[in-house]
Amino acid sequence: MSDITVYDILVVGGGMTGTALALGLSQQGWRVGLIEGSERSALLKVPEPVEGVADFEPRVSAISMASQKLLESLGAWEGVAAGRHCAYQAMTVWDGDGTGRIHFEAAELQARALGTIVENRSLVRALFETVEVSNVELIDGVQVTGSWLDGGRRGIELADGRKLVAQLVVAADGANSRMRQWVGLPTREWDYDQQAIVCTVRTAQSHRYTAWQRFSQTGPLAFLPLATENGDETFCSIVWSQDTDEARRLMALDEATFTAELERAIEQELGAVEMISRRFAFPLRQRHAKDYVATGFVLVGDAAHTIHPLAGQGANLGYGDVRVLMDELSKARAGGLSPANELVLARYQRRRKAENLTMMAAMEGFKQLFGRDELPLRWIRNTGMRWLDGRGPIKNRIAAEAMGLII
Ligand SMILES: Cc1cc2nc3c(=O)[nH]c(=O)nc-3n(C[C@H](O)[C@H](O)[C@H](O)COP(=O)(O)OP(=O)(O)OC[C@H]3O[C@@H](n4cnc5c(N)ncnc54)[C@H](O)[C@@H]3O)c2cc1C
Repeated sequence: MSDITVYDILVVGGGMTGTALALGLSQQGWRVGLIEGSERSALLKVPEPVEGVADFEPRVSAISMASQKLLESLGAWEGVAAGRHCAYQAMTVWDGDGTGRIHFEAAELQARALGTIVENRSLVRALFETVEVSNVELIDGVQVTGSWLDGGRRGIELADGRKLVAQLVVAADGANSRMRQWVGLPTREWDYDQQAIVCTVRTAQSHRYTAWQRFSQTGPLAFLPLATENGDETFCSIVWSQDTDEARRLMALDEATFTAELERAIEQELGAVEMISRRFAFPLRQRHAKDYVATGFVLVGDAAHTIHPLAGQGANLGYGDVRVLMDELSKARAGGLSPANELVLARYQRRRKAENLTMMAAMEGFKQLFGRDELPLRWIRNTGMRWLDGRGPIKNRIAAEAMGLII
């Protein structure tokens, strides 16, 4: 037993959720280990300045103000702000099959921005730079290969044969969490029968620091504004979610035809679209763990839930988990309780399940509302969007909540 390292808390998975949580818990004074399969040198690599669309990472996240505040409190936002990031001031959403249109402005909400678009690798890099100067014990470049329960504590086995033990193990190992499977927490899941096509483009006109989203019956298309080192305002990241057959057809098109279809789909809102980077397609699946906790074990981020990217909330839900788990574990520490205390973990689960399920239901509602062509539904969404657009205070209240300006 003597060669087994014992931690208060072990976080498995150094993505954007696990790294933030490890930092927060270590700042509370717990002994925290963070295990990540990739090498730290790869995660800390600074990207080259942008010259063309291929230089951006195709996966980006729209970080809400609430998530930004969390990252600021952890000391990681400075690194995000020093790299490529785009604070967007407005959002326009419209119904491609009707007349409904709605527009949100940060200025109307007395906010500096509605949120910030960040390349995923830049966010993770900023978090790892903060881990490097923290008390988090980073174990990188090695996979977790198993987990067991050891007299009330959780054991972890690494691919190189090392064994670690903690009072609490947090699984932040992503959507296909092996940890969740080893511990035996079942999920409720179903296919949206859609794929998200992700790529980077350049547009003839400035994106005007606005996130553009057009809904059509086969799925939403988002143009998310990107910033460059030299202030170029013509790069956008695309998330084009389409029914699976349609997504396959689009993925098979040659570059010129795909570009023409994309231009048509966004209704030339930003002028001609050019220079399509490589396209990636992600199958979209809704997934929700029936329970987030077991003895000495808890799920956070995509390991607990994945949702449709139509409102760009996946990472923000993960940061909601981080905020609440930090809150509960800080109270446990102040009260001299173990981080694995059942009541503490049950409170975390109760608080997070309610919010995560509400968001998942809202995404499903949106998908159904825009995915159907019946006249009454078209009438409801078009009249509803126009009605809401004309009601400043109600619209702004809804937007402030959705953007995480009200926590
Ligand atoms: C197309 C698309 C667009 C999206 N757009 C947005 C958006 O605009 N806004 C937004 O908020 N969200 C968005 N999301 C969701 C967002 O990307 C995810 O919610 C987020 O990346 C999840 O982070 P995570 O840290 O929980 O998991 P992950 O990012 O999956 O991280 C898991 C980590 O665990 C490590 N790991 C896994 N298994 C092991 C193991 N056995 N041993 C050691 N390490 C392990 C992996 O190496 C990885 O680093 C989008 C998702 C998709 C698919």
